[in-house]
Amino acid sequence: MKVGKNKVVTMTYTLRYNDENGEIIQQVDEKRPFVQLFGAGALLPAFEQNLEGLEKGDTFSFQLSAQEGYGDPSEEAILELEKKIFEIDGKVDPEMVAEGKNITMQDQNGNPIDGKVVAVKENSVIMDFNHPLAGENLNFSGTILDVRDATDEEISHGHTHGPEGHQH
Ligand code: ZN
Repeated sequence: MKVGKNKVVTMTYTLRYNDENGEIIQQVDEKRPFVQLFGAGALLPAFEQNLEGLEKGDTFSFQLSAQEGYGDPSEEAILELEKKIFEIDGKVDPEMVAEGKNITMQDQNGNPIDGKVVAVKENSVIMDFNHPLAGENLNFSGTILDVRDATDEEISHGHTHGPEGHQH
């Protein structure tokens, strides 16, 4: 069975900057492999395209440009927000709201969005909501451990289910 739309793919992978010799960003091994429903829009399209047609036991190594990956960093994703927003019980925690710290906030739709504190000013905080890998060329290498058909339920939910079914 081949990797493609509506298949549940189990794999290991190592994500590095730039190429096969780049610094490791993330490593997923056989103990806790990556299991994902393909064709559900959860993955980078170029990531799915590079794996399409592979079978159990196949290995892979491919590069994604920043454009195929998380895009270029955008000025529009850097925002100056009122400091009040960061108050908890009327106070801003200086440990949490400090330059370089990552903070999970909510977008207009209430979805979680990760940002990084760029600077803390007297009445405002400058936050960078660019993806941490924006502007980076990426290299993925790994092994396909398993490919199976997704169930109708998985396809309708847009994600994989474990042995006990829907667990979210
Ligand atoms: Zn589900």
